[in-house]
Amino acid sequence: MSNDVTPDSPTDDDAVAALVALVRIPTVSVAGEPSTGAPFTEFLIEHARRFPLMHARLALTLLEGTAMLFHWRGASSERPVVLMAHLDVVGVESADPWRHPAFSAEITNGEIWGRGTLDDKGSLTALCIAVERLLARGITPAQDIWLSFGNSEEVSGAAASAAVEHLRTAGVRPWFVLDEGGAVAARAFPGVAKPLAVIGVAEKGTTTIELTVAGRGGHSSTPARGDAVARLARAIVRLDNHTFPGSLPAPTIEMLTRLAPHAAPAMRPVLSRTGRFGAAITKALQVAGPESAAMTRTTAVVTTLSGSPGHNVLASVARAGVNLRIMVGDTVAGTVERIRRVIGDDRVQITVGDANEPSPVSPWDDDAFRLIEAAITDSHPDAIPTPYVMMGGTDARFFTTICPRVYRFAPFRMSKEQRASVHAYDERIGVRDFLDGIGFYAHLIERVA
Ligand SMILES: [Zn+2]
Repeated sequence: MSNDVTPDSPTDDDAVAALVALVRIPTVSVAGEPSTGAPFTEFLIEHARRFPLMHARLALTLLEGTAMLFHWRGASSERPVVLMAHLDVVGVESADPWRHPAFSAEITNGEIWGRGTLDDKGSLTALCIAVERLLARGITPAQDIWLSFGNSEEVSGAAASAAVEHLRTAGVRPWFVLDEGGAVAARAFPGVAKPLAVIGVAEKGTTTIELTVAGRGGHSSTPARGDAVARLARAIVRLDNHTFPGSLPAPTIEMLTRLAPHAAPAMRPVLSRTGRFGAAITKALQVAGPESAAMTRTTAVVTTLSGSPGHNVLASVARAGVNLRIMVGDTVAGTVERIRRVIGDDRVQITVGDANEPSPVSPWDDDAFRLIEAAITDSHPDAIPTPYVMMGGTDARFFTTICPRVYRFAPFRMSKEQRASVHAYDERIGVRDFLDGIGFYAHLIERVA
């Protein structure tokens, strides 16, 4: 990004002030409720105030009340690009020990603190500042750029789904889509000193199932063996004892191959021959910790549990909610079938709730992926760009129905602690890291040919 600041072009201080202002608006989305309350309308007003050129020169469509879809006309509409972020955030648990209040956006020691700084107002603001600066310079992008800012990413993703419908109806077939997801991750792999710029090319499928066992109820003074709760407990233990088989999906093999030259010398020969050492590497990832183990397989974990409501009452029904993260290559049906086999008890009923298959895998031996890599090298020259499979879900998954190249990456350096702060507490972004992220988006848009 050049430094010749025209009067209309936001400075770095303006950029930080915009992020602070937007983080202070508590746009918490709630399941089952539209994101149209006061914070959301206030967000729209503040957004228009902070990014006047965007609002003056780009066509804006509001979806689901307060989600924004901007259309920036380029020299060509042949290979349109969709850049995404979301303006809603998850709520804050009152018991969480935030060092600075979650919606204060305090700046301390070069960091901006608050809910949404990383997920995902940092990306949204950096992207809008980049656009604002390019507009101030009179730049017309080579291709149409669509900016899609959802308002319900943390709950249903309804706005992203509406954006997809809008584009489909308008006959827009995106060349590629870029949403949040990966990051410039420090100490992401043992023995690799350089940060990894991990670009999500697929995401696991998030699905919830419920295990139900009907019981006879009655008074707890006359129990019989094997009641509903005991059967459910046995099913849960069986599930816990039978982790899913592991494997290395193609994006993970590519990642290991790319970081091999940067790994400790003893690791290099193994990592660069993942084909041959696949089974050993899978094992090693599984014992290295839950984060790396999750990279190798479908996971299933009980999150909700209920039995009898009273101390002296036998459960007439016992229930466990199981959250599944389905690996690329597996399916909802196959996963449920395996769980049925593992539990091996006809009296444990399995009901599938909200079902999502894993996403298709986007290509990395591809011009669009290389464009993202080049923009990363512009803004973060020390980082190693690499594809990977995301563990969490994003709004981007909706776009896989209209686009084969869907990528997930936020252009910010994040420590392990910062990555853990998302959806938890002490979420914060470095000021320098935020500004580098603006550079990434500006380079990306300028590199679109
Ligand atoms: Zn997010």
